[in-house]
Amino acid sequence: MKILGVCIISLVLLAPQVRTAEPVPLRGYSSDSAGAERDWEAKFRGIPDPAALRASMQRLTARPHHVGSAYDRENAEWILSQFTEWGLDARIETYDVLFPTPKERAVELLSPTRFTARLEEPTVAGDPTSSQHAEQLPSYNAYSIDGDVTAPLVYVNYGVPDDYEALERLGISVKGAIVIARYGGSWRGIKPKVAGEHGAIGCLIYSDPRDDGYHQGDTFPNGPYRPADGVQRGSVMDMPIYPGDPLTPGVGATKDAKRLPLSEAVTLTKIPVLPISYGDAQPLLAALKGPVAPERWRGALPITYHIGPGPAKVHLRARFNWDTKTIYDVIARIPGSVYPDEWIIRGNHHDAWVNGAEDPVSGTSALLEEARGLAALARQGWKPKRSIILCVWDGEEEGLLGSTEWAEDHAEELRRKAAVYINSDSNGRGYLQVEGSHTLERFINGVARDVEDPETKLHVWKRLQLWRIANPAANGTAAERQEPRQRADLRIGALGSGSDYTVFLDHLGIASLNLGYGGEDGGGIYHSIYDDFYWYTHFSDTDFVYGRALAQTAGTAVMRLADAELLPYDFDDFTDTIRRYIEEISRLALEKREQTVERNRQIDEGLFAATEDPREKTMPPPREAVPPFLNFAPLENGLAALERATGLYDQALARAAENGGAALAGAALRDANARLIAVERALTLDDGLPNRPWFKNQIYAPGLYTGYGVKTLPGVRESIERKQWQLAGEQIVRVGKVLENASEAIQGATAELTRAAK
Ligand SMILES: [Zn+2]
Repeated sequence: MKILGVCIISLVLLAPQVRTAEPVPLRGYSSDSAGAERDWEAKFRGIPDPAALRASMQRLTARPHHVGSAYDRENAEWILSQFTEWGLDARIETYDVLFPTPKERAVELLSPTRFTARLEEPTVAGDPTSSQHAEQLPSYNAYSIDGDVTAPLVYVNYGVPDDYEALERLGISVKGAIVIARYGGSWRGIKPKVAGEHGAIGCLIYSDPRDDGYHQGDTFPNGPYRPADGVQRGSVMDMPIYPGDPLTPGVGATKDAKRLPLSEAVTLTKIPVLPISYGDAQPLLAALKGPVAPERWRGALPITYHIGPGPAKVHLRARFNWDTKTIYDVIARIPGSVYPDEWIIRGNHHDAWVNGAEDPVSGTSALLEEARGLAALARQGWKPKRSIILCVWDGEEEGLLGSTEWAEDHAEELRRKAAVYINSDSNGRGYLQVEGSHTLERFINGVARDVEDPETKLHVWKRLQLWRIANPAANGTAAERQEPRQRADLRIGALGSGSDYTVFLDHLGIASLNLGYGGEDGGGIYHSIYDDFYWYTHFSDTDFVYGRALAQTAGTAVMRLADAELLPYDFDDFTDTIRRYIEEISRLALEKREQTVERNRQIDEGLFAATEDPREKTMPPPREAVPPFLNFAPLENGLAALERATGLYDQALARAAENGGAALAGAALRDANARLIAVERALTLDDGLPNRPWFKNQIYAPGLYTGYGVKTLPGVRESIERKQWQLAGEQIVRVGKVLENASEAIQGATAELTRAAK
């Protein structure tokens, strides 16, 4: 079956212009309905229009539109009026959320010299919206606590746990200090969290020019990279615990929702934090002494990077208005004609930190073009089998507020009805980028084969395949380098966090995808006042053809999911991916063990004392107990059950697809579809992950200490990484059971499919 699939696919790809008489079968469709589907999809892909994308971006980014601003609400109302004008049934749903804004901000160097940080992003000549200072949110990190601290400064590189291990070896403590970390290496909220855990009393985060400034290319307005005074705003809420309104965990922030007192909101930071530009950071870093920073810690400022502590002494003051603001989610529905209670949900946020052309309007405008296209098809008689819910979220930037509160509010209905959630956010030029649930890996590969890359005219799948062949993973084996040529489907990454899919995938167990284009349009305006229409139309997808490609990709995916007789989940790629994850974590456990044995031996040999410069005060690493061997059998058994169930499902599907899939066309597949939806829910456990019950998905989660970066099989992987061996053993048993639960759910779907196809 697989070999046949590969042959057909490569035939089509070798001759992309040729329409073969027998198109590649659409999974979950009978031949008759597949033909009709392809016609509707082709019609749809002709609709999204670069001129319309440009016009809606210009409209939505004309003024700053953060949560609580006048223009945020005006945008929501304008989107609603567009939806209504196109004939869609739409409305605005509101929630009331905690949203702090700055009242006082100060960063001063007190000694050995004096310097006061400007904390301002200046107007740039030629960029018209950069001058809208009265409406711009000042640069700050939302959900930092109030604080007024004075202390010696310590440079902590990216401020991730590894960096603190290096500091320990150097005998440097951040206890009682203010740390300065550079952006990058983790999600920003991790930096104050780890700093606080190590005893720091304040945190500054700056954008080093090595990472997104002049080291990368020309700076704005001569080029796309961050200018000296550009600042990255952003949330520092402890989202790996739970995202959304800090006062209403697990429930929608409706008017009458029960709210925690501010003092019990555990997702606020423990220490005050402010973001600064490299213009403001340079005098602070230049005033540090102490050891010279290790090579990989050094940025691109024209100074020698020292770590401290001191003699630089810094005063940091940050105070906020702890207000409640209303957020406006715009929700449109296209009712399903056969399975109205199975939902395909598509979302992108509309709020921004400032004018937000790239983040998020490049994605928002694509979603609007999809909506216009789907509405046009509906007027021409297209009737999706499933209901389509189009969501334009507010409050994403602060902590996924709009999506989280809406999904928590409608959780019970979503658990019953939601089949798939498809997200997008910032979009740009380049390659298709997909992450998501591996039950949809095969499906989205199929969609990517039907969308044309606007610049090379290859299909976006082919272009991505060739890129993967040209850019193999640095540590990949020879077989892995050949994989993009040989495997039927290109692998998709797993989802961590960082956009609005989080509540759907991680909290509710709904199969999710995140789609976008990028990789050929670097820049350094993220979350600054310079992410605006001027920047986007000079340095990113300037002719909006990748905006059109995103609308075509996501719209095709939505239609193909909504119209299928049988939901096109696939468990082969899923099982294959789970197998890889189990291999990875088994290897990880062994490596941890071997590393500990080796390092203890080196300590006994006196290696550190002998080989590190005796004039520098480095400390040997601490001796550690050798980790026990873990028993991975429960995971192996779960995987074996999954493999068996997948094989049987594939056989049932192949039988149902015989004779042009007449069985699919004629059969009542309601129960089979419902069982398929239940497979994703079976990947969740009600009591969630260790110490973070909101995160219920046992396959995917953002890392506790990466923030956005994913941890797969997170309960097991993180307990191994954190050397919690007993917990790891318990988690292996739990996750093994989850894999067995998923196998049972697949067997349920197989039974219903077999019954329906008789
Ligand atoms: Zn965004």
